[in-house]
Amino acid sequence: MSEASRSLNFIEHIIEDDLSAGFPKKQLRFRFPPEPNGYLHIGHASSICLNFGLGLRYDAPVNLRFDDTNPAKEESEYVEAIKRDVEWLGFQWAEERYASDYFQQLYDWAEQLIRDGKAYVDSQTSEEIAAQKGTPTEAGTESPFRNRSVSENLELFRGMKEGKFAQGEHVLRARIDMASPNMLLRDPVMYRILHRAHHRTNTDWCIYPLYDWTHGESDYIEQVSHSLCTLEFKPHRPLYDWFLDCVTEPDKLRPKQREFARRNLSHTVVSKRKLLELVTGGHVSGWDDPRMPTISGLRRRGCTPEAIRNFADTIGIAKRENVVDVALLDFHMREHLNKVAPRVMAVLDPIKLVITNYPEGQEEWLETENNPEDPEAGTREIPFSRELYIEQEDFREEANRKFFRLKLGGEVRLKSGYIIKAERAVKDDKGRVVEVHCTYDPKSRSGSGTEESMRKVKGTLHWVSASHAIPAEVRLYDRLFTDPTPDQHKDRDFMEFINPDSLEVVQAWLEPGLETAQPSDRFQFQRLGYFCVDPDSTPANLVFNRTVTLRDTWAKIEQKEA
Ligand code: ATP
Ligand code: MG
Repeated sequence: MSEASRSLNFIEHIIEDDLSAGFPKKQLRFRFPPEPNGYLHIGHASSICLNFGLGLRYDAPVNLRFDDTNPAKEESEYVEAIKRDVEWLGFQWAEERYASDYFQQLYDWAEQLIRDGKAYVDSQTSEEIAAQKGTPTEAGTESPFRNRSVSENLELFRGMKEGKFAQGEHVLRARIDMASPNMLLRDPVMYRILHRAHHRTNTDWCIYPLYDWTHGESDYIEQVSHSLCTLEFKPHRPLYDWFLDCVTEPDKLRPKQREFARRNLSHTVVSKRKLLELVTGGHVSGWDDPRMPTISGLRRRGCTPEAIRNFADTIGIAKRENVVDVALLDFHMREHLNKVAPRVMAVLDPIKLVITNYPEGQEEWLETENNPEDPEAGTREIPFSRELYIEQEDFREEANRKFFRLKLGGEVRLKSGYIIKAERAVKDDKGRVVEVHCTYDPKSRSGSGTEESMRKVKGTLHWVSASHAIPAEVRLYDRLFTDPTPDQHKDRDFMEFINPDSLEVVQAWLEPGLETAQPSDRFQFQRLGYFCVDPDSTPANLVFNRTVTLRDTWAKIEQKEA
């Protein structure tokens, strides 16, 4: 879908209305504001595509702003990972900013609020403060420290900054209204003492501003026109505005906060806190485990940025929360990979075929297309010989008429090769088939132009030449959770729904040529799915990840179970 042709989403309508009301287009400015307390996930991708998409549509700058006000949870590792992911998704930020860049300005403003009688130092414990909050229908109780003098407040606040007090001894609160029907306006905390080094400001500060105090003022400093956040912040909007009223100067742009619905994906969790639990609990190999719904996990699995952007575009943005079926993301992966991934042959669960009428020691190289969807992709040659591998499940001694694969007495075409007929199953002493002896029709080679080569047979199988094939480890990933909404059960923890079979490792055989495949190269293994070279891979020890199967196998399983 091209940006221009798609219909406007509700945020764009808000912007269009502002423009029609006279807001200068050149003052449009956006930001994407992650907290660097984890890796970005597919939910963030929606927010990234929304904000950077607006930047592209209106030719407006979009800042990448790290909301780094909690040194207890934030790290530079996360900052770097977030930058890498946004870039990989294909977006460019105008400026890289940090809320911590504004600590001094925020502090100065906080002193101004104290002088204006709009903030005070409260010396109660957090429990006492919480107990005074009241309920939505009952007013709260004013703190006994609420009417401290400006000079006492200033002295205490400066003392907090200078490290004279222990954690929890004092907080700075906005002096708003303890009876407000909006609980968030009941004198919210603006600063707390935290004796902890920050990943950027180190030990310069031992008081840290809270989200509500920081976010709107950061938007104001950066002159962000439309500050877009998820719905849970809607009740915070009056506070966002109250804080802006305290500092906004008349000739400067005043940001506005608007909300859209969080995106949830089925069969996974999209919350950094929960994803961190999976990582620290050792349920996955790391933030970039290919089963994770993180951008880095999806990348490692072989997903393309185009697939994620198309997915985000298709689901669009909404005013209400819902769960998007992960099958839709799979669909977009297939759709894009189908266009760009070269086709190769690989056998994941081999059984040997011996073509008894093919001369021993002979080999030939068969020309085959790299990607029938892409005429520019060209062709390559793959080796054919007397002994081949096909998939176990593509052979049965006996089968009904609907089995279009290989059965005794039946014929199939070997992709880009010959028509073969299964003659005999060779078994070991336990009765298991270890080899299938076949004959081939020498005149039936694909593309050779003979009458036999045009002959239609029902099935076409992928295969590799046994003596030429190269081994590889293939990691077959499945959904990480068996339940569609693992974290939305009242009495059960999401961890209870972890799929114990989400990873299967197999030893596969690949057509030669793939030795040189590099980490992150993507392929279609014909008839099997899309696969991507893992960063663990070396030429001597190839490792592939399955990105997605060719068809939606889960839909079938769920239908059967229903
Ligand atoms: P998490 O709960 O995973 O930590 P968060 O909202 O606390 O999420 P932030 O780093 O604060 O994470 O998010 C940065 C931006 O991305 C915010 O504007 C936030 O609203 C948005 N965002 C986060 N999760 C989603 C989601 N699931 N769908 C849409 N936008 C999201
Ligand atoms: Mg958060």
